[in-house]
This record gives sequence, C-alpha cells and structure tokens, in this order.
Amino acid sequence: MKQNPSSKKKHGICYLVGAGPGDPGLFTIRGRECLSRAEVVLYDYLSNQELLRYAPVDAEKIFVGKSARKHALSQEEINALLVKKTQAGHCVVRLKGGDPFLFGRGGEEAQALAEADLSFEIIPGVTSAIGGLAYAGIPVTHRSNNSQLTIFTGHEDPSKEVSSLHYKSLAMAPGTKVMLMGVERLDAITTSLMEAGMEAATPAALVRWATTGRHETITGTAATIARLAQEKNFSAPAIAVFGEVVLLRKKLNWFETRPLFGRRIVVTRTREQASELVTGLRELGADVYELPTIRIEAIENKEEKAAFLEVVNYAHAYDWIVFTSPNGVSAFFEEFYHHHHDARALGAARIAAIGPGTEKKIREYRFSVDLVPPTFVAESLLEELKKVGVENLRILLPRASGAREFLATALEDLGAIVDDVPVYHTRRELDDKEGGIQRFLQEGADMITFASGSSVEYFDALLKNLGRRLPDYCHTASIGPITSSKMRELGVPISIEAKKHHIPGLVEAVVRFFDKDQPSSFLA
Ligand code: SAH
Repeated sequence: MKQNPSSKKKHGICYLVGAGPGDPGLFTIRGRECLSRAEVVLYDYLSNQELLRYAPVDAEKIFVGKSARKHALSQEEINALLVKKTQAGHCVVRLKGGDPFLFGRGGEEAQALAEADLSFEIIPGVTSAIGGLAYAGIPVTHRSNNSQLTIFTGHEDPSKEVSSLHYKSLAMAPGTKVMLMGVERLDAITTSLMEAGMEAATPAALVRWATTGRHETITGTAATIARLAQEKNFSAPAIAVFGEVVLLRKKLNWFETRPLFGRRIVVTRTREQASELVTGLRELGADVYELPTIRIEAIENKEEKAAFLEVVNYAHAYDWIVFTSPNGVSAFFEEFYHHHHDARALGAARIAAIGPGTEKKIREYRFSVDLVPPTFVAESLLEELKKVGVENLRILLPRASGAREFLATALEDLGAIVDDVPVYHTRRELDDKEGGIQRFLQEGADMITFASGSSVEYFDALLKNLGRRLPDYCHTASIGPITSSKMRELGVPISIEAKKHHIPGLVEAVVRFFDKDQPSSFLA
C-alpha cells in the first residue's frame, strides 16, 4: 500500500474484512470494530447477513451478490464500486465470506484500491477450508496420519483451454486435500484425481453451509462422494475434503450431535432483547433466525412524557416500584439517570420484578430486588404483594404504553395508590435488514417462539399484512399463560407452553419438544 497521505484528498478507507464461514461467533473483534464505524458496507451471499447488525443503522448496505449462478455485480464492478466509495471519503467495509485472501478475490480488490492510491486494511477471517471442516469434526491435519494440507479450487474459468489444476501433483501429494468451489463439477474432478493416482478408497466428505444453521455433511470415498452428492442434491456452497482425517469425524463430530441441530427456530422479539434466547437455542445447535416483530421506542406524546418525567423526579416518594418487563426497567432508569446524578434519588422505594429477566436488568443498574414472585406472571406478583400488604402504599408501575391494566386495578382494589405510567412504546418492526422475514417466507421454520403477548400480536399482524397463514408443519412455543392466551385470542395454534416462564424455561421446553425419545406434552 502506498504511504503518501498528501496525495489523498479525502480520507476514505476500505477494510477488506473476513466474515468467517457463517457462524456469527466466528467473526473477529477487529472486524466488528470496523463494521461499527462503517458508512458503506458491501457484502455478498457467503457473508452472514446477521453481521450487518454491527454496522450503524444508517450505513449504506449494498448487496453485491456473487453466487455461482448469479452475479449481482461483476468482480470489475465490485472493484470499481469499492474504489468509488472509498475515493468519496467514506469508511467502507467489504465483508467477504471466510478469509478475504483465500479464493475470495480479495487480492484483486486490494490491488484495485492500491492502484487508486487509497487506504485499505485487510482483516483476516476464519476460512471455511479449516473452520468449516472443524465444525464437521474434521481436523485438516492430524499428527499420526496427515501432516500436509493442500487447498485447491474446483472452480475454474470455463474459458481456460488447459486446466490449471495439476491433477497428477494433487493426487500424489501426501496429506489432506481440501477443495473449495466447484461442487457441481465434483464428478469430473474426482474422476480426474483417481485417474491421476488417488486411491479410490480415500475417505472423503462434503460439508455445505458449514457452521451455519443449515450445516450438513455427507461422507464417502473418492469413488462414491460425487454420486452421493448428486443423490442428495448437495449444492454449493460446499467444502470437499479428501484424506484419512475424515475418519476422525466418527469421534469428533461435536456440532451435528447437539440436541437442536438442524431445527429451524424463529425468535420473535425485539432485536435488543433477542440475544439471550437466540444464544440459548443456538448453543444447542438450532438454526435460529430472528423475525423482528417489535421495536422499543421512547415515549413521545407530550402528556405521557410529562407524567413520566414527574414520576422520575419524585421516584423517592414511592413505597414500591414494580417492574413488569426488562424494557420498562431500561426505559425508567435511563430517564432516571438523565435527571439524577445520585442513585439515592430513588429513596427507600422497594423494588419488585415480575421475573428473572426483569430482575437481571434491575441489577444491571445496581439496585437489588426485594420481591420476585414464584411464577412469573402478574397474578403471582399480585399475590406476593398482597402478602406483604399494600394498603395505602404508593406504588409506581412503569410499563409499556397500552399494556394491560390488570395489575394496576387489582392493586388499587387492595387499597394501594397506584401510578400506572407508560415509559416506552412497542411498535411494529418492519425493517428486515438481517433477512429474517424473507427467509421465513421462502422456507418457513420448524418452530416459532413467542416470549410476550405483544410479539404474538405483531407476528400475527405481519402474517396478515403479507397475506400468509402459519404453515401447518410449523410448531409454536409460548413462554407462559399470558402469551398463550394472546395466541388463543388471535387463533395462533400453540404446540407447547414453557413450564417456567422465563427464557431458560422456554429453551428447555423447546429442547424437550424436539427430544424424540420423550413424548412431548403441551406443558414442557
Ligand atoms: N474466502 C472463502 C472462500 C471463498 S470461495 C473462505 O476462506 O472460506 C467460495 C467457496 O468457499 C464456496 O464455493 C465453498 O466451497 C466455500 N465456502 C465458503 N463458506 C462456506 C460454508 N459456510 N460452507 C461450505 N463451504 C463454504
């Protein structure tokens, strides 16, 4: 790269970032840093769209395609676009599947930037050739039998008259051979390799969409793998591997043996809240994708806002502050600390939380929680408050605008003085930047999870808006009775309801539902 800053009129920079093979957890910390300051992001089908969430909301996100069949933009056009956007002074991130310098044409993109005298940086990534195979339980080298690794491409420029693949040297090279691209030419390639001397019995495997929820593996030998791939309609993107290391998979197959492996599960929560459920399901092997149904927004209505500010100012005047959702906690304390610089402004108010998620959020603001009911529903919370006694006590209920008023009315019936105050709005989320809605429409899901009544409402509205019905094969999981009653009200069938009404309880219910060895029951 040329180091002559004076020749650069504007200070644009382009980061060529390896997105890893698919699992967002394999993205690098440096990659995430670059994305978080991107003004323009260019991505293609191999870089997981979920990573786009790390880019600023207002960053320009350009899909530049590139799958074997359709090129949204040609490589030359991509190079030109990178140069143009960087020249314009932007912070540009080019997200590339796996590692940018392994068969990703990252070298050409870097060359184009260098030739235009622009600043660029390369952020390596986990390559599918090694990381993808690791998820299939295949180490590319193994001390006892494989001490050399050859990575080659099965995709060649069709206009080439003479193949640049030296089948003879490939076939004769000791150790593991990994092929990227060209799975559709596997028959011709394995035939050539065997003709050139590769043993027909060499263990072989194909791994497609490695490390993602769609990860799938088939195994065979150099002689059988192409036929097996054809029979199973095993299409790109896939990694092919030849060598004794494939046999180690029998013992090392850790990824595909997890309880929810291959189950497509939809999470319908706000983006901010979804992570605990998504992580919980994903760690058990599920193919999780998010359907954003609701979004949390600040209170804008003047009267509501004034009421909110007043209770924040007089927070110390309450005997109890009762939180019924983590969002209520965040909204309340964000405003609280906006106005007060001392946590003691909360006075001696005692704090109640409807469940562990809400409790955890309160603890994040360094307040301990005085009361959490044994079951995490408003009725149970009411019972507990009743035991403590609320007559003539001042109770603040910070909650969602338009939430149900049961708790407020019931507490008033017990003689409490209740301020039932909206502190945030839930709105329908229409932005589909991670592609969840599109994926749901195209291929459906095995299960949809609902963790609140409002997410049921918004999901139902989303389906109706799109003129769709819930497919019959698609199961549903509800976190608890309130969510279930909303589902019944809207005619959304319920496959299971969690016995414990919190996120870990919901995850547990989903696992039990799919555990074929145990008969599933409604209450899981
Ligand atoms: N730079 C990328 C490779 C780009 S070439 C890397 O380092 O991984 C594109 C090829 O990579 C695909 O045709 C396929 O062979 C392979 N590939 C990339 N990601 C993959 C994945 N998640 N699963 C299987 N193959 C993948």
